[in-house]
Amino acid sequence: MRLDVVSLAPEAFAPLQGLGVIGRAFAAGRAELHVHNPRDYATDRYRKVDDEPYGGGAGMVLKPEPVFAAVEAIPGLPRRRVLLMSPQGQPLQQADLRRWATEYNQLLFLCGHYEGFDERIRCLADEEVSIGDFVLTGGELPAMTIINGVVRLLPGTVGTEACLEEESHSALLLEHPHYTRPANFREMEVPAVLRSGDHGAIARWRAEQQEQRTRERRPDLYARWKSQQAAE
Ligand code: SAM
Repeated sequence: MRLDVVSLAPEAFAPLQGLGVIGRAFAAGRAELHVHNPRDYATDRYRKVDDEPYGGGAGMVLKPEPVFAAVEAIPGLPRRRVLLMSPQGQPLQQADLRRWATEYNQLLFLCGHYEGFDERIRCLADEEVSIGDFVLTGGELPAMTIINGVVRLLPGTVGTEACLEEESHSALLLEHPHYTRPANFREMEVPAVLRSGDHGAIARWRAEQQEQRTRERRPDLYARWKSQQAAE
């Protein structure tokens, strides 16, 4: 998977290379990261990448020319998806990460800054993505969030495929609780069923816990799960 990022803060991406299983996926060549700074494509003597908004108002706007030039200089693979980071985009879902990890071999991230992008930059994107209903100073953390989520889904990154299938948000239910040794820690006991060796009982307990957790913590997901069950 080729990952290209257009960002005014290329240094922000360096920690990804040292990030546990994600860093190892880069080292093993499962993913390669290329960061491009629009400032390198600015043609005026001050390498200007932003300007005042037409019509007035606070803040600066990212100019179109350097961003277009940066994107046009990036080699395009046949299955490429361009993702523009924006708090106005579609809220990120696990299903998006899976779709990008399986259907594309190149993801190109456009990271905004200041007040955001000149509106004409939006036509470069296939999708606009938000990581939540809040506003950050730039698109770097959103892009790194997506890179982390996509790279961990690439075959070979995470030890076993089963881990990926059972976890929260892979279906509609949240994952069940986990425990490890010791069996008793500060008078908090590991449920006896998990130590029983009865695999049927353990599976039933985990399924009940998934339902209960989702009902309590995410009634929205639980309602969708219930209607999916009713339809099957
Ligand atoms: N003025 C813009 C607005 O109200 O929509 C917000 C601009 S924000 C300060 C600067 C940049 O950070 C955005 O262009 C985007 O790339 C990124 N950004 C901020 N919050 C984000 C979020 N929740 N999801 C994705 N990207 C975000």
